[in-house]
Formats: sequence, structure tokens, C-alpha cells
Amino acid sequence: MSFHNKVVVVTGATKGIGREIALTFARHGASLIVNGRNRERLAALQNDIQNEGSTCSIVSGDASSPETVNQIKEIINAKFQRVDVLVNNAGMNTRTPTLQTTLNDWENVIRTNLTSAFLTSQSVLPFMIENKQGVIINISSTTANTPHKNATPAYGASKAALNYLTMHLAYEMACHNIRVNAICPGPIETDMTEQWDDTYREKVINGVPLKRLGDTSDVAEMALFLASDQATFITGQSIHVNGGTLMR
Ligand code: NAP
Repeated sequence: MSFHNKVVVVTGATKGIGREIALTFARHGASLIVNGRNRERLAALQNDIQNEGSTCSIVSGDASSPETVNQIKEIINAKFQRVDVLVNNAGMNTRTPTLQTTLNDWENVIRTNLTSAFLTSQSVLPFMIENKQGVIINISSTTANTPHKNATPAYGASKAALNYLTMHLAYEMACHNIRVNAICPGPIETDMTEQWDDTYREKVINGVPLKRLGDTSDVAEMALFLASDQATFITGQSIHVNGGTLMR
């Protein structure tokens, strides 16, 4: 799979799944535009991507803010005038149960997990339409489909809405040869899972039919496949990468 001469944008790429996705596309030759709020981690990622022989532009800031999204657009305009792949990965979770969730908590999660994906998609779609092709991949969650004790209600709600947004954009943009899919990871080993205590961790692994946590590369390889020419008849889908934790 070659992504030479392709431009890939990844939000929330400073660590975990987003970082692995950005590096995976870089290893396959893509030029990257990466986003996250932590400047040091962004600079380290830029360095690692350049060591893979790819070019990398960084945009630090909140992916749900119009200012950050505009900066991404300005880099596209100035350097590439095209976007081939957008990966909406920026996401957050809290463990706040319903009765303790403030309006601010609720809005933070919805903005980070859902509004950011809408704004960045809206911003790159004109380039994709102009180019008569493009791929958007939204990083959702198994929690979109089943309640999860370890997630605040806004988390599942935002991811379920992200799956709907995926279908809506896929439907509206199919006539422009733009494909839109979501990946719903199950438990993947990242900083998000490091918040778990040992007892909970063991319980989660026991609940996975494949008896392990997923690796960030399990998600990154699916993103690469969905963006590739091997997946040109796949759109509007929310695809589970979860070790069998949810079977439908
Ligand atoms: P992580 O290690 O906590 O990384 C989250 C990433 O999102 C970081 O790079 C963070 O960077 C960025 N981010 C958070 N808020 C942001 C914002 N407002 N603007 C820009 N970037 C932001 O989490 P992860 O496990 O890799 O999760 C990545 C995605 O996978 C999320 O959408 C998550 O919901 C989904 N997911 C994860 C799991 C799992 O088990 N790990 C399971 C299902 C779904 P900064 O802090 O630098 O901004």
C-alpha cells in the first residue's frame, strides 16, 4: 500500500492511537498534518515522522475550536491544495457517572469527540470535492453500541452520534467519490487504559474473547486499509476492532 503524494490529516495525534495512525501513514509515504494540544509531543511526533522520510506539519490546539481547524486549512492551502485522508481521532473520556456530570463536563466530551469531527470534515471536504476523491475515518468506540461502566454518558452518546455523522457524510458525499467510515475500537492499550486499576484491567481482559487488550497498531492497520484502494467499495460503515468484545 503506497500513500506517496497523498496528504493525510490526523487530529489528536500526540499519543496513543492517533500517534500510531500518523506514523503508520508516514511509513507508507504520506505527507502528514498532525494536531494535538501538547506542543512538546507534537514536536516529537514531527521528528519521528521526518525520520520515516515523510514531511510533517503540526497544528497545536483544540481540534474542536474553529481557530485550530482554520490553521489546518491554511496549511493545506499553502502547502498542498489537497487532502486525501482525514482521520478524526481526537477524543476524551471521563469516568463521571450521570448524577455527577456537570453541563461543562458533558459539553467538553461532546465538543471534543463529535464537534471536532464535524468541523474538520466540513473544512477539508471542499478540497476532496475539488479533487473528486477523499477518505474520512472517524475513530469512534465500541461504547457507541453498548453502555460501558467506565465511561461518562456523554462518551457513548458522542460516539453513537459520530457513527451517525459517519453515515450521513458517507451518504451525502458518495456522489463526489468520498468515502466515510468509522472504526470502533474495543479496549486498546493507551494512556486512556492506564487510568484503570489492576482489578478492572484483569476484568476487561477476561471479557475479551481473544484474551488481550488491543494494540494501537490494530486500529492503525484498519485505518490504513480503509484509506487504501483495497477498500474502494466500503463507505458508511462503523467497523469494530475489538477482539470480539461486541459481536453483532
Ligand atoms: P489518548 O492516549 O488519551 O490520546 C488522546 C489523543 O487525543 C491525544 O493525542 C490528545 O492530545 C488528543 N486530544 C484530546 N483532546 C483533544 C482536543 N480537544 N483537541 C485536539 N486533540 C485532543 O487516547 P486513545 O486511547 O489513543 O484514544 C484515541 C481515540 O480512540 C479517541 O477518540 C478515543 O475515544 C478512541 N478510543 C480509544 C479506546 C481505547 O481503549 N484506548 C477505545 C475506544 C475508542 P493532547 O492531549 O495533546 O491534545
